[in-house]
Amino acid sequence: MLRQPDVRGDFPGLLTPDGAPWHYLDTAATAHKPQAVIDAMSHALGRDYATVHRGVYARSARMTLGFEAARRRVAEFIRARSASEIVFVRGATEAINLVAASWGGSVLQAGDRIMLSMLEHHSNIVPWQMIAERTGAHIDVCPLTEDGRIDLDALETMLTPQHRLVALAHVSNVLGSVLDARRAADLAHGVGAKLLLDGCQAAPRMVLDMAALDCDFYAFSGHKLYGPTGIGVLWAREELLDAMPPYQGGGAMIDRVSFARTTYAPPPQRFEAGTPMIAEAIALHAAVDYVAALGPDKLFAHEAALASQLRDQLRGLNSVRLLGPEDSAGIVSFVMEGVHPHDLGTILDEENVAIRAGHHCAQPLMEHLGVPATARASFGLYSDESDITALMRGIERTQRIFG
Ligand code: PMP
Repeated sequence: MLRQPDVRGDFPGLLTPDGAPWHYLDTAATAHKPQAVIDAMSHALGRDYATVHRGVYARSARMTLGFEAARRRVAEFIRARSASEIVFVRGATEAINLVAASWGGSVLQAGDRIMLSMLEHHSNIVPWQMIAERTGAHIDVCPLTEDGRIDLDALETMLTPQHRLVALAHVSNVLGSVLDARRAADLAHGVGAKLLLDGCQAAPRMVLDMAALDCDFYAFSGHKLYGPTGIGVLWAREELLDAMPPYQGGGAMIDRVSFARTTYAPPPQRFEAGTPMIAEAIALHAAVDYVAALGPDKLFAHEAALASQLRDQLRGLNSVRLLGPEDSAGIVSFVMEGVHPHDLGTILDEENVAIRAGHHCAQPLMEHLGVPATARASFGLYSDESDITALMRGIERTQRIFG
């Protein structure tokens, strides 16, 4: 376990307005920010602020160095081969839309197939439906095992040479299930398909190594990695990015523009039209430094241990149905008999406990589980046993209220 008092103090957002502890169990939706990230953002928007890539004055040149240093830091953090494989986007949603529109739009043809899974977030479903509609490709859905993992045995039997892409969550935002990404890559590549991993929930809690994962595209959001909103990362193999057409047109993504013909910059600039998220990239750099200093492997173990403790305690209540595998990452979904998750969430809020209640942008998964919504407690690097104690106290009070 991490030494909580040390890290908790770094997060000003983890207190209520009157200074009481706030038991924030919604880190899978968005993570709180350490002071170092808030400071980096504040300096980048204040005393250091200037635009990038137009460095005729010193401050703009410095800002450009900072922006490109952030790209190199992200590349190093996920062990990419080069910083030019890192495309800054608004978030995972934009990263997946970019791949669907650019790669999908240029590669997919009628009769091609795309493989998703039953537990995907809407942002790894809807962009594929949109491009499938445009190109005539079909979507297949890989089922789950009884305990809520993507069933890779089923994937093996379902994949065909018509499959051009397999797009899966590395870690489920609802069930916390961790994908055996290496096996998924072997299966996808075995039929000549590319593998896209939605790394939104993996990036904040796992050691990432693009070569070891052997995927082709990897997407994640900065705000879940203790960084700011408005920035995310698309990683793709250099040769794929090289061959992909631009996603959006505008400034900064061009080589030369004339009304007769426009040529485009090489990646990653080709995919970064317009003034980029300058302060956000610099603050993301600070977030990556913060997480890297603690050690992502330690974060996974810390949060998984808390998830396991919470599961053990919830198992003791006979009105609770636990969802998802035993060895989940730090995310626990459950339903309470006779209590709607929203009612539970509202009562917990009175106890300064914040959980998520709803479909978690995974409506097909809710339908598969036979529930309209779940309650979800998700841990972050700052979580500790006091959060579980407060949550359990609130759940027991809810049980009493609902008889
Ligand atoms: N995929 C997963 C697994 C997620 O948890 C989320 C965020 N809930 C997303 C995609 C979308 O991320 P964003 O809204 O930051 O683009």
